[in-house]
Order: sequence, then C-alpha cells, then structure tokens
Amino acid sequence: MREVRIRDTLSGEPRVVDPSEEVGIYACGPTVYSRIHIGNARPFVVFSLFARFLRSEGYRARLVVNVTDVNDKIYAAAAAAGEPSTEFAARMTAAYLEDTDRLGLGRPDAEPLATETIAGIVGLIADLVESGHAYESGGDVYFRVRSFEGYGKLSNRRPEDMDQGEEAGLASLKEDALDFALWKAHKEAEDTSWDSPWGRGRPAWHIECSVMAEQELGASFAIHGGGSDLVFPHHENEIAQSEAAGRPFARAWMHNGMVESAAAKMSKSDGNIFQLSEALDRYGREAVVAYLISGHYRQPLAFGPAQMQQAVAQVERLRNFFREHPIDELGGWEPGEDSPSQQRGGSVESSPGSRLEVFRDALADDFNTPRAMAVAFELVGEANRSEVPGAPEALREMLELVGLESLALDEGGADAEAQELMIERERARGEKDFARADEIRDRLAGLGWEVRDSAEGPRLVSRT
Ligand SMILES: [Zn+2]
Repeated sequence: MREVRIRDTLSGEPRVVDPSEEVGIYACGPTVYSRIHIGNARPFVVFSLFARFLRSEGYRARLVVNVTDVNDKIYAAAAAAGEPSTEFAARMTAAYLEDTDRLGLGRPDAEPLATETIAGIVGLIADLVESGHAYESGGDVYFRVRSFEGYGKLSNRRPEDMDQGEEAGLASLKEDALDFALWKAHKEAEDTSWDSPWGRGRPAWHIECSVMAEQELGASFAIHGGGSDLVFPHHENEIAQSEAAGRPFARAWMHNGMVESAAAKMSKSDGNIFQLSEALDRYGREAVVAYLISGHYRQPLAFGPAQMQQAVAQVERLRNFFREHPIDELGGWEPGEDSPSQQRGGSVESSPGSRLEVFRDALADDFNTPRAMAVAFELVGEANRSEVPGAPEALREMLELVGLESLALDEGGADAEAQELMIERERARGEKDFARADEIRDRLAGLGWEVRDSAEGPRLVSRT
C-alpha cells in the first residue's frame, strides 16, 4: 500500500490519506435542470478514478455523489418545459445516470437525492435555530454567518468580498447581507413543498450536502470534493452549517479545476460540443475519459476540437499498440513479477514492472494523471521501437487504473452487418448524402461500433 497524498484546499498543504480507516469521499454532484455538459463530467471522472486508485492500493474507499433535484433552476426549467418539476427532475436525473453510465467507470457507492433527505435537512436546520446559529424570517430560515467564527477559512475571503448570490429580494428578510438561506417558504409558482416547523417550504441549496455527507459517511469524514467554482459560497456554507452544529465535517478538501471552452468563438459545426452525451457520441468513451484526465485535476482544462482530437489520437495509439502486441492470456507475464527482460538481465528502471510502479507513484502524488499517462506513453514508445516482453500486460494494468482498460480488449472483428453498414456509409458520403451517412453512423453506434478514418481507409472500432 502506497502513501497517498493530496493537496488540501483548506490548509493549502499536502495531506496523507489515512489508511487505517474507511476513506469517505463526498463529491458534489449535478443540479439536474438540464443534461450535463462535459465540465460536469470532470468531477465525476476524477473522484470515481481516485476512489478506484485508492481501492487498488488496498484502501477502503467509499464515494458519495449527490443529486440536487429541488432548486430554483429546476422550477424555472420545468415551467419552461411545461412539466411538473418532480417529473422534470426525475427525467433529468435518469439522463444524468445514463450519460455518466456511458463513461464506463461504474457508479459511486451512494447517490442520494435532495428530495429524499428532507427529514434530515429539517432536523439539522432545527438544531441550528435552537443553538442560535440560524433564525426564521417570513417563513424562510437563514444562517447567521457572523455567529460562526470560522467563516471564510476555506475560500480565504474577507466578509466585504462575499456575495451569497441569492435573490436581492431576500435582503429585507436577512439580519445581515452575509447571511444565507437554509430553508425557503413555499411560493405560489413552485409545485412542490414540505412541512417544517417554519411552515410549508423546501430546502435551500447548501444544506443538503451537510446532511447527506453525514448520513452517508458520518459526522467526520476524510475528503470533500467538488469543482473549484463551489469553494465559495457552497462549500464555505457547508462547513459553517455542519461545524456550527457541532459536527467535525470534512478533514480535507479536494477541488477540481473548471473545463474552459472558447465557446463564444466557435460554432457547433466547428465541433464545439458541450453536452457529455454529444461528446460521447462523437468521440467515444475512451477519448472523453482520456481528455478529462489529460490535465492535473486541480488545473483548469481547455476544451475544444483540438483537445478532443488529441485525446482521440492518444486513444488510437494505445488501441493500436494492443492490436500489434496482443496480450498472451496463457502464460503471459504477471505485473509485479520481474519482467522477462529483467529476467534476462535487462535494466530494472525501464522495465514494464518498474514503469507500472512509477505510474502508481504519480497517482499517489496528488493524483497526477498527466504524469502517469506520460509514463504509459513512454512504455508504448519503447515497446514500439523494440520488443519489450511484459509491456502489454503492464500497460493494461496502468490503463485499468484510469478507466481505459477496454483499449486492451481484442475487438474480435466486426460482424457482417456492421461491415455492410460501413460500406453503405462510405457510399452515402461519396454521394454527399451526409444525412444518410450520419444515420448509418448512429445505427453503427447502436451496434457498438464507431467508424474511424485511417490511412488505410475507414475501419470499425469497438465503442465499449
Ligand atoms: Zn454540495
């Protein structure tokens, strides 16, 4: 078991993950008011893979990702769609599950919904009211920010630089402009509400995460994650709510940088895809995952056709490597043993087994996926130049750690139907019938195949 270190946003210092207990990880999930975009997929991929890595090292990791299914944005989007908000949120939650399933990384251990956590939310708000950290006003309940001494410690902001981002209309209900809502009184335009000691209403946003994290992971847990856009006010407010109520809450914080697109400068026809489902349709799951781990999780990540083409090219390079160096399932080298080249007296440092160790070391060092992938590509380059026994096996194990092990699968040849469709698609393209060509591409996608253009002409590549 390696020592795994992460950089903690709260202290600004490296922190060692404690191997002696369950590593509870809570990552803020989506507000389901539309289909998720590729930026929303980044925390899903980062924290799913981080939990996978911890488990592979022998840690007991438990990942919780919530779904915010009651919110101002959801009421507005449901009204615009002419749909009851519960049906709209259920439909968008199903779309989120479907889209993230397609990433092929499995599901988090728990995915609680805000609407199924109302009793716990009312309970925590009642505790805060009783202890003087919150107050009722006009059927709403607000957190009294100046009653909590540690406020601002995560985002390092001064009170005068803080804006809760709440509707200006609430100002008259607040004792202090800094205060933020925990509970909102029912409004006519909203079609859901729940009973509370303060009348009918529904939770405000931040409170659900304080409650869900505690219900799933306990009052004190290892790591709280999410996008860096959530540091203030969302995570600052989660700390205030939980700690003011006497809960120790998260011991370390891990924030992923934003996916940044030059959207305004590009049109959709240039390939500027925003929705995760569209990116998956166009580039395939491996390229989307490879793209999302191509930068260090804490840094911003540029998004555009060039970045996606680069990810496609990387995935192709890896897939081609396994086509040319198939894994010998019988009597193959096992990662962890001395490789055959070492057994023959080859260099230890550059052996596949020691490269696998270096790959794991990079992930243990604040989950440095770009450094790890550089090690994988070094191995590919070396094994392409001259035979390196054990290289395919070590590479497969590396890729398994980052969700790309499917690249090592034997594609087994496309069936006749898929081959026929590919030829038909080429014919349609030759006749400039692009609508027909797209239709055939979608049918192939449904059969699990993707057409890729190569120097030898188009060929079918497995999408799974
Ligand atoms: Zn949250």
